[in-house]
Amino acid sequence: MREPTPTAGKQTDAWLGRYDRALLGVFGRPQLVLEHGEGAWVWDVDGRRYLDLVGGLAVTVLGHNHPALVAAVSKQAGQLVHVSNFYTSVPQVELAERLLEVAGAPAGSAVFFCNSGTEAMEAAVKLARRTGRMGIIAAEGAFHGRSTGALALTHKPAYREPFEPLLPGVVHVPWGDVAALESSVGPDTSAVVLEPIQGEGGVVPATAEYLRAARALTAEAGALLVLDEIQTGVGRTGSWFACQQAGVVPDAMTVAKGLGGGVPIGALVTFGPEVTALLAAGQHGTTFGGNPLSCAAGLAVLDTIVAEGLLDHVRAAGEHLERRVLGLGDPRVTGIRGAGLLRAVTLAGEWAPSVAAHARDAGILVNPVAPDAIRLAPPFVVTTDQLDLFVDALPGLLDAATEENR
Ligand SMILES: *Cc1c(COP(=O)(O)O)cnc(C)c1O
Repeated sequence: MREPTPTAGKQTDAWLGRYDRALLGVFGRPQLVLEHGEGAWVWDVDGRRYLDLVGGLAVTVLGHNHPALVAAVSKQAGQLVHVSNFYTSVPQVELAERLLEVAGAPAGSAVFFCNSGTEAMEAAVKLARRTGRMGIIAAEGAFHGRSTGALALTHKPAYREPFEPLLPGVVHVPWGDVAALESSVGPDTSAVVLEPIQGEGGVVPATAEYLRAARALTAEAGALLVLDEIQTGVGRTGSWFACQQAGVVPDAMTVAKGLGGGVPIGALVTFGPEVTALLAAGQHGTTFGGNPLSCAAGLAVLDTIVAEGLLDHVRAAGEHLERRVLGLGDPRVTGIRGAGLLRAVTLAGEWAPSVAAHARDAGILVNPVAPDAIRLAPPFVVTTDQLDLFVDALPGLLDAATEENR
């Protein structure tokens, strides 16, 4: 996949030069140097404006500079930022309660707060280990994070292989294949770990039947069903969690990305008293996890999603986008996957990196999640008019991309 080239600009060039000399090169060269934002718009250090349909990779759900998030974080910063886990705080308790409520978790469920998706997955791996079994089943195409434990569950060989051997006992089964799952789940399976929609894998949804089969098979085998809702959760698909649309209740769920609206926070939710009891006092921990600042941000996000009716808006905006993309009738556009505001526009050729580069030059940020798929994960506050800016530009962007690839 061609690396998108950074957009030139006097300030941009200077900062990227300094970036190259100071930052570890794991991300390659960043495309832009961003300075501020407002709603779904961001501006770079050269004063250029972009429509942000990447949303910090499904993170900035309230958009940029949302007054509710700014007020909550500012107020909490003036009270307490951090207290350690020797102590708790009102926002921590309140956010845990709210999270259990929106997750529809039964009595005896509980929350462990951490700082990222990867850490939530690490907690889930340790939870699974406490079943006394060693096997973990994940899916081909899965992305669960980059730390060595989470990385073992991530499927992409380029991410995994340079660091092997990783955690033993992990098997990857073909995505969406009930029979493969059936033949893999056994007496040594501690957990089946799945994303309701594979995000980094290209925005590829599981069918409701697949998730239900995973639920039934794990229940039967006495294994945990762990759903990774790090990208799909907190309203991204138009319901609080994507598994709710399939009517599936997991044994554990991981949450991060959207939860803090950009302030780092992750969570493991354990469902019911038996699963909750697997991790006892002293068996896991964190210094920063659950600090009052990030929890205040989480509360502001959940409250604002309710106050602004954003679940309904996400659903409606996603349907609008789908209608508009399909309505283009452009043979170079083969479809649109995903749900709510986690979408991939699929293309008939490997034009996505080039389309994304041309879109950026035209002031629209999108993510080429695969050579033939453009991911959109915009803030929930994005308007249908803003989504239309992308759809209306798409044929022209494809002209430029196909011209270039000729
Ligand atoms: C982003 C992501 C992770 C990792 O989260 P980080 O916050 O980057 O550590 C794990 N699982 C899924 C499904 C993700 O999208």
